[in-house]
Amino acid sequence: MDGAPHGQSTQDTEIVRLGGRSWLAAAFKGWRGRCPNCGQRHLFTAYVKMASACRSCGQEFEPFRADDAPAYFTILVVGHIIVPLMLVVEKQWFPALWVHAALFLPGTLALSLMLLPRIKGAVIGLQWGLNMRPGEAR
Ligand SMILES: [Zn+2]
Repeated sequence: MDGAPHGQSTQDTEIVRLGGRSWLAAAFKGWRGRCPNCGQRHLFTAYVKMASACRSCGQEFEPFRADDAPAYFTILVVGHIIVPLMLVVEKQWFPALWVHAALFLPGTLALSLMLLPRIKGAVIGLQWGLNMRPGEAR
């Protein structure tokens, strides 16, 4: 006997033992602003303000804290997109500084504002998927 309850395969038992969580699927649901547990759109109540719990499945979000990670990853990604673009534009067309400012300041702002809630959701989803609860570790 492999220890699996009657009617379940060993593979099903492994999934149950791990809580049935896929960290990748949970991070993707979070990226989309959805609850990592049920996939309903209840992760945020405002732009990056997290709900205390999912209104659909009741999953508590309070123990999951992203802290500075979303800002860090947003800066990392935006910097690696904008800076090479600026260098290419400068090398190819030598535009005036006001052209750089007109292109890349709004671009940086828009990309940052677009990515920040998605990255925060992905971090929260990843924490949920890996059963990390940084808020309870204190
Ligand atoms: Zn939910």
